[in-house]
Amino acid sequence: MKFSYKILLCSIITMAAAFGIGGYFFVNDVFRASLEREIGQALDDSSILKFAFETAALNIPSKYDVLQNSVIEEIGSNLENRGQGAGRLLRLSDEDRKVLYASEGFVEDTVLLADIEEQTQAYQIIHPDRRYYIQTGIQVNALDRVLYLETMRDVTEVYAERTRGFAVYRGLTLLILVCSSVVMYLFSQWLTKPIRLLTQAAKRMTAGDYGCRADQISTDEMGQLTMDFNHMAQVVEENIRKLEEEVRAREDFIAAFSHELKTPLTAVIGYADLLRSRKLDDEKHFLSANYIYTEGKRLETMSLRLLDIIVTKRYQHEPQMVDAAVLFDYLEDLYRERDGVSVQIRYASGRILAEENLLKSVLLNLTDNAVKASEPGSEVIVLGEKRKDGYYFSVKDHGVGIPPEECRKITEAFYMVDKSRSRSHNGAGLGLALCVEILKLHGSTLEIESTPGEGSCFGFLIPWELQSFMEAGER
Ligand code: ADP
Repeated sequence: MKFSYKILLCSIITMAAAFGIGGYFFVNDVFRASLEREIGQALDDSSILKFAFETAALNIPSKYDVLQNSVIEEIGSNLENRGQGAGRLLRLSDEDRKVLYASEGFVEDTVLLADIEEQTQAYQIIHPDRRYYIQTGIQVNALDRVLYLETMRDVTEVYAERTRGFAVYRGLTLLILVCSSVVMYLFSQWLTKPIRLLTQAAKRMTAGDYGCRADQISTDEMGQLTMDFNHMAQVVEENIRKLEEEVRAREDFIAAFSHELKTPLTAVIGYADLLRSRKLDDEKHFLSANYIYTEGKRLETMSLRLLDIIVTKRYQHEPQMVDAAVLFDYLEDLYRERDGVSVQIRYASGRILAEENLLKSVLLNLTDNAVKASEPGSEVIVLGEKRKDGYYFSVKDHGVGIPPEECRKITEAFYMVDKSRSRSHNGAGLGLALCVEILKLHGSTLEIESTPGEGSCFGFLIPWELQSFMEAGER
């Protein structure tokens, strides 16, 4: 059952119960008050009749010693038809409670008669022939006789009024229920609208529309729920986008990897086939074997770099304080001069929180790239400087430079600006990808500035403290 229908049903049940119970008590209360009033009047009438009877008995001529039964009947008949309330019903009985006189239509019931006592008035409600009466009884002392006077007051109308009251109330309750059901239905629809909007948004998201958000139409708890839902949807959308990007990057990586693998393998297979199928002269034999060797070497370099990247990604980082001199001396030993390019190393002394071997690998890659990009006779400058927030490394060359649109891509695995130039240097476009992974571990990023034809500058900052290190890494 829909939530809005549940709200509607609960309200109808509550209202029906409230009106039903309230109406019952109200009508009954009115009825009881009316009945009590009637009982009071019936008892008053009975007292008045008693005095009237006693007065009439006193006026009987004194020739009678005792009040004769015939006189009693006569007085009874007179009282029945005389004065206000003529046509009243009464019954007179003697000392033995034997009926002496009874109006026509008076009940034959003698239960009350048996209960009448001296000085007290008795009454009961009787229900003969679908009518209701208040029957009263009182003792009458006339001359030397003790008589019993009973009256009957018709209260059928009071009961009929109660029945009518219940009927009116039932009708009224039904009408109110119908009207309020319509109002409650609209109300429940309005109350549950945020839920419907949320359900629609959830369905659209399930169908793949991750950008869909639910409209917030209130500021109450429902509005808060909508806000939370939208926030959750945003997080889910971002995560899905990240996952999709990751999957795309992986696919690109596999495609580039297969491509990079295919080129050297084709050369190796081709030259190997040539060597085994024909007898070549010494020079061609050497050239073919050399191709197989160099391409094999390239494959080896590529697989080692790939392994480095994978290992670095899963690496449990344990940084230690490393002396800047250790890093730069190592670089100086390797690159004093390479391929006619002079490598100038200048650094400020200091201690850096880093993994020594990983940082050496980054500096080596950047210096190697700078040397490869430079013409013989030019200069590569490797700098180490202390900054407020960390130790800054930079490698600057005056080589070929990188076009601006390529700068973003060169850190992707297998990306090479000039493929033939890179391959001729045994490159596979993996060096910078490895640098980025290592710098990520150190909470750092690679900054690239380059102008085609003028040169490039690659730099990165290693934060001083482990705390900022980790925070930067999380970013
Ligand atoms: P590779 O192993 O091929 O050198 P890298 O990932 O280290 O791969 O470099 C990616 C590409 O970026 C290189 O192929 C090269 O074209 C370009 N590159 C890197 N460093 C420089 C630089 N200092 N000057 C010009 N181009 C560079």
